Amino acid sequence: MADAPARPAPQKPVPAKAQASGPVLAMRRLGLVRDIDLALHLPLRWEDETRLVAIGRVRDGELAQVEGVVSECRVEQRSRRQLLVRLEDDSGELLLRFLNFYPSQQKLLAVGRRVRARGEVRAGFFGREMVHPAFKAVEEGAALPTSLTPVYPTTAALPQSYLRKAVVSALARAPLSELLPADLQPTGLPTLAEALQRLHHPPPGADLPAMEDRSHPAWQRLKFDELLAQQLSQLEAQRERAQLKAPALPPLADGLRLALGAALPFTLTAAQQRVVQEIDADLARPQPMHRLLQGDVGSGKTVVAALAAATAIDRGWQCALMAPTEILAEQHFRKLVGWVEPLGVTVAWLTGSRKGKTRTGMVEQVASGQAMLVVGTHAVIQQDVAFARLGLAIVDEQHRFGVAQRLALRQKLEAQALEPHLLMMSATPIPRTLAMTYFADLDVSTIDELPPGRTPVLTKVFADGKRAQVVERIRDEVARGRQVYWVCPLVEESEHLDLQNATETHAQLGQALPGAMVGLLHGRMKAAEKAAVMSLFTQGQMQVLVATTVIEVGVDVPNASLMVIEHAERFGLSQLHQLRGRVGRGAVASVCVLLYTAPLSDTGKARLKAMAETTDGFEIARRDLEIRGPGEFMGSRQSGDALLRFADLQADSALLQQARALAPQVWAREPRAARAHIDRWLGGKAVFLKA
Ligand code: ADP
Ligand code: MG
Repeated sequence: MADAPARPAPQKPVPAKAQASGPVLAMRRLGLVRDIDLALHLPLRWEDETRLVAIGRVRDGELAQVEGVVSECRVEQRSRRQLLVRLEDDSGELLLRFLNFYPSQQKLLAVGRRVRARGEVRAGFFGREMVHPAFKAVEEGAALPTSLTPVYPTTAALPQSYLRKAVVSALARAPLSELLPADLQPTGLPTLAEALQRLHHPPPGADLPAMEDRSHPAWQRLKFDELLAQQLSQLEAQRERAQLKAPALPPLADGLRLALGAALPFTLTAAQQRVVQEIDADLARPQPMHRLLQGDVGSGKTVVAALAAATAIDRGWQCALMAPTEILAEQHFRKLVGWVEPLGVTVAWLTGSRKGKTRTGMVEQVASGQAMLVVGTHAVIQQDVAFARLGLAIVDEQHRFGVAQRLALRQKLEAQALEPHLLMMSATPIPRTLAMTYFADLDVSTIDELPPGRTPVLTKVFADGKRAQVVERIRDEVARGRQVYWVCPLVEESEHLDLQNATETHAQLGQALPGAMVGLLHGRMKAAEKAAVMSLFTQGQMQVLVATTVIEVGVDVPNASLMVIEHAERFGLSQLHQLRGRVGRGAVASVCVLLYTAPLSDTGKARLKAMAETTDGFEIARRDLEIRGPGEFMGSRQSGDALLRFADLQADSALLQQARALAPQVWAREPRAARAHIDRWLGGKAVFLKA
């Protein structure tokens, strides 16, 4: 058959070092390097080329393969240029019609050629026809394939036919023996070799619906193996971590930690106290902490981080706090400086916009150990930043960072054969099923309570036509001495458009609200400009702040009581939730207005509905998972490309339970098989699962 249309492969291609062409390189980009990689590259669907139907007997609407000799081949201009080929066998004739065609195809379809064509037969104006059938030229009496033909996910540079041959030979070579003894296998499933044979080359009459919806036992076997590989590798990561050494940092009876606790203007919530204890217990051990602190927007994670930092500093170890954006890093910096500098701690500040002498000075303070607390963005993990004694690394909004960056942070202490403790913070709660599977090597602490005195934010969804009313609402709010955010979306394709949108809205609001100060904040402004605008808003002189998503995380202005999100349909659910978390931080009742522009997509509708119905971050995360599916939820940055290819955590939870139960036994009884299994499935990717 001619090549099926290329489809994008489900896995993310391995980034190619050099731009090169050719099928081998194309395969490498798809991660198809070893024989086993090809053996595990499974078809999207199958085509039945095992049977021929006599042309005279094909029914209208039937998908069939026919074989005949070309009796006529001509190019005709009807509504557009097309190639018309008449194909005959003993029983009748049929028209093959091509709207797009190459000269090479025309040659293959010359009069007298014997051709096999496969497609749907329809009654056309000139009799029965197949439009754009798959076809190939054959010799008379050429054998029919004995199994169904696989159609693989591939790219334009990698033809189906090439990939099919590569898979056949890889299957013959790949070591597919059963690695585990029978009593450590799930019962009732085929062997790996059988399962792969069945999926790559199913016999005629195979149960295609079950193969296509992936419920077939052969799929079950692959999904199980994949889940087992993931569970095994995470257990291994846990064990490896237990071997690592970190400085033991039990809290001191007096010192910074105590002073900081006493200086706080509020008492910790019960949830905060609980997570502080969990973190204390980790820090006291000589193994690196690897803890995720999750808590909804506004739940008070920063103070928990500060107390942990104080503990490290009390014990003579440095603490680094890394945040994804400069604005967020700066908020942390200000807050922390306010808390700890009066207590005699030097805080260093490292961001991308800090260059030259100031930066060199900061880097020196970090290297000498004079700066005990280091706050910043990605700049904290730059090559030239060496810590004297890094004891604790804190990553805020950890989902915004890649795995590689987390690894880099952990390696900042390598020289001393110790690892720093690692505390990751996230306001995007990770649903339990995901936490269990992706983060088997992560302990999770949850702040499940907001500080007292907050009133839940009321969310309203309006079509963009209601803009004038919304502006009225802003006027009321400003008149009452409150502050307002107006968020414009980030237009990914065009920073320019993005800016235009925000600039226009800024001008519009400035005109509509003559008495108020309306500011503008966007990603292209210089850091100093941003800081100036932010500080006017934080200090209350500015009433309305028009911003692109730069305010997404961490901004803390309790007097802000109204947030308008323009083009809310363009935002992701967790992003909307994060944004909404900027209001409702004080005791006043706050409102979030989601303006959308019709028409809404189904997922867009579902997102706005979720926002209107709940303010609970966990519920939002659950719905997000439902709307998007786990793969997208975590994103490839999070998972280091090691996402599950075949198994689905929700749909295959029974298999997941089996794999979880089996994994410890496999490590205990068959450690070599465990390693071989991980290698078979994850190859070099396992390191990412452990980060
Ligand atoms: P997030 O978890 O989103 O990072 P923050 O740490 O920024 O939240 O805290 C949000 C606000 O709540 C801050 O102004 C912080 O000072 C305040 N806060 C934190 N803990 C408490 C508490 N126990 N009681 C009152 N206010 C608190
Ligand atoms: Mg925060």
